Amino acid sequence: MPKCHICKDKIEETFLNKLIGTYINKKSVCSVCQKQYSKEELIEKTK
Ligand SMILES: [Zn+2]
Repeated sequence: MPKCHICKDKIEETFLNKLIGTYINKKSVCSVCQKQYSKEELIEKTK
């Protein structure tokens, strides 16, 4: 199971193996962090 690059929590997947979250700079980010930070912050944090 992939982990969030920012909070290090495990990221859940749907039954179709789709990540509940997103990829930024080719790193996985969970939906919680996605909501918590702006896009600019997420890009900075995944560098
Ligand atoms: Zn996270």
